[in-house]
Amino acid sequence: MPREGLTLRCEKCKMENYITKKNKKTHVKKLEIKKYCPKCNNHIKHKEKK
Ligand SMILES: [Zn+2]
Repeated sequence: MPREGLTLRCEKCKMENYITKKNKKTHVKKLEIKKYCPKCNNHIKHKEKK
């Protein structure tokens, strides 16, 4: 698994919809971003997958 890669997972259906890059210096805490989920067909809170 690549260390810099960060997967954002839908809180509702647990689908992994987004991959972004993590900056260790600026993003210390877990990410929580509200994004569109195609499966839920809605904007759902996405969380960083550990
Ligand atoms: Zn979803």
